[in-house]
Amino acid sequence: MESSAVLKSKCSEFTLAAVSELSSPPVSSSSTPVIARFSADRGVAELQFFQDSNVIHGFHVNLATSQLFKLGPVQSLCISESSDSNKEKLYSRGVTIQFRNEEESREFHSAFEQWQNEDVTQGTDLPNGTTSAVRSKFDNKIEPSSAKMYFHYYGQLLHQQNMLQDYVRTGTYYAAVIENRIDFTGRVVVDVGAGSGILSLFAAQAGAKHVYAVEASEMAEYARKLIAGNPTLGQRITVIKGKVEEVELPEKADILISEPMGTLLVNERMLESYIIARERFLVPHGKMFPSIGRIHMAPFSDEYLFVEIANKALFWQQPNYYGVDLTPLYGSAFQGYFSQPVVDAFDPRLLVSPPMSHVIDFNEVKEEDLYEIDIPLKFVASVGARVHGLACWFDVLFNGSSVQRWLTTAPGAPTTHWYQIRCVLSQPIYVMAGQEITGQLHMVAHNAQSYTIYLTLSAKMWGPGAEQGVVLQTSSCKLDLKEPYYRMSQPQPYTMAQDQQPHQLLQVQDIPVHTVDLEEAELLQQQPLENSGAQLQ
Ligand code: SAH
Repeated sequence: MESSAVLKSKCSEFTLAAVSELSSPPVSSSSTPVIARFSADRGVAELQFFQDSNVIHGFHVNLATSQLFKLGPVQSLCISESSDSNKEKLYSRGVTIQFRNEEESREFHSAFEQWQNEDVTQGTDLPNGTTSAVRSKFDNKIEPSSAKMYFHYYGQLLHQQNMLQDYVRTGTYYAAVIENRIDFTGRVVVDVGAGSGILSLFAAQAGAKHVYAVEASEMAEYARKLIAGNPTLGQRITVIKGKVEEVELPEKADILISEPMGTLLVNERMLESYIIARERFLVPHGKMFPSIGRIHMAPFSDEYLFVEIANKALFWQQPNYYGVDLTPLYGSAFQGYFSQPVVDAFDPRLLVSPPMSHVIDFNEVKEEDLYEIDIPLKFVASVGARVHGLACWFDVLFNGSSVQRWLTTAPGAPTTHWYQIRCVLSQPIYVMAGQEITGQLHMVAHNAQSYTIYLTLSAKMWGPGAEQGVVLQTSSCKLDLKEPYYRMSQPQPYTMAQDQQPHQLLQVQDIPVHTVDLEEAELLQQQPLENSGAQLQ
C-alpha cells in the first residue's frame, strides 16, 4: 500500500495530487504520482518534485528563501524568491500544490517548517551557535575532498602539538597578547580557527570579557576539554564547532585573533577565512591580531640544492632498468621535481640581493584579492652568482596598542615550523654584481586550498648600454605550493655545511628590508630580524 508520508519522523517524501507552476497547466498524478521530496543533499534545504523518478524541472524550491501559504484545505501555494545567475535581479516564483486530503496537507506544512529550520550543514552539533543553511563561501571554492583531509589533519592532537611546540610562533603570540592587555581587557574576542584553543586561553588571560573560539575540525571537542580544564579562564570562552564562513555568533567582536598563516603566508588559503571572519564578526575599526602580513622575496644561489634536485630525476635516465628503458619519462620527472617548492631553513648568505616585500593588510584586503596575487620583482645583485631561484619567507605584525611585535620566519632568525620556501629554476641565470634582476611572482589560488606559482626571473643587460633594458636571460617555472619538498623533517637551525666563501654572498646584516605598497610605512620600517621572536625571554 502506498503511504502518503514515507518517513513519519523526518518526513522527506510526500505523494501529491498535482503540482503546477502558477499560470501553467498542472502536472497531475492521474497517470503516475507526483512526489514532493525534501532534502539537504547539497548542503541546502530544498524541495524538489519528481514524476516517474525524474525530477520535474523548473519546480525546484530553496527552503531558505521560500514561504508556504494555505489556499484551501487541500491546496497550498509555495512562493520562492530567486535570483538570476549574476545575483542582481530578484524575482518570485509560485508553485501551486494540490494535496490528496487535508491530513496530508497538514503533514506537508509541518514538514516544510521543520526542514526550513533544519540545520543542514556539516557539524550541526552546536550547543553554542548555529550554522547557516546556505552553501558557504568556503564550500563554493574548496574541493570537498581537500577540506575533508585538511580538517582531518587539524583534528589530530599531534599536529596541534607540533604548532604549540613551535615556541617562536606560540611564544610570540603569547607575548603579543599579554603585552597588549589593553587591547583585550573587557573586550569580546573571536579566535578564528581556534585549534586546541590556546589563543583563546591567552586572550582570556589578557582579560577578555568573552572569547568565541571557532574551530571547524574535531579539534573543537579537545578545545572544549582543555578549556573546561582551565575553569577560571574557561568560563569566559565559548567553543563553537563550525567554519567561520558558516557559524553565527551572538555578538560582534572587538578584536580577532588567529593564526591563519601557511607556508609562503598564503598556503592553506586560511587567510581568506580570516578576512571573511573580519567581514562577518568584527566591529568597524576593530583590531586584528595579526593585522599585516608581508611576503619577502630575494634571488638565491645554491649549487648544492640545484644539483640535488636535478639528480633526483637521474633515475629515469637508465636505459636498462630490468630490461626497460626509463628515459622516455626523464623529462617529466625532471619537470616534476622542479615543480616542488623546497621547504627548509637556509643560510641567508645564499641570498644574492637584498629582499623586497609584498604587503597584505588584513584590515583592508578583500577576500577576492587573495585569489590571485601578482608581484612584480626587481632586485639588484650584490654579488656575481648563478641565481638558482627565488627564496621567500613571511612575517606578520601584531600592531598592539602598547607593543608592536613581529613574528618572522626569515632565514637567519630562529627557525619556525614554516621554515622558508625556495622556488628553484631548472635553468639558472648568471648575474654580475650590480646587475638588475627582474621578473614576476604570480600566484593563483586553486580549490585544493593552495596556489599554483608562476615564477619568472630575468637578468637585464649590465654595464654600458644597460639603460636600454635589454633582457639577456630569462628562466621560468611553474610550481604547486600544495606539493612541497620538505628537505628536513625537524626544526633545526641552518648549518653552514656548504663551503661558501662568506664574503662572496650577502651577510644577513647587509640585508635592508625594502617594502613596496608602503601604506603603513611607519609600521614597517622596523627590521623583521630586530622584531622577531628572538627577543622573547
Ligand atoms: N589557533 C590555533 C590553531 C592554528 S591552526 C593555534 O594557534 O595553535 C589553524 C586552525 O584553524 C586549524 O585547527 C583548522 O582546523 C582551523 N580552521 C581552518 N580554516 C577554518 C575555517 N574556515 N573555519 C574554522 N576553523 C578553521
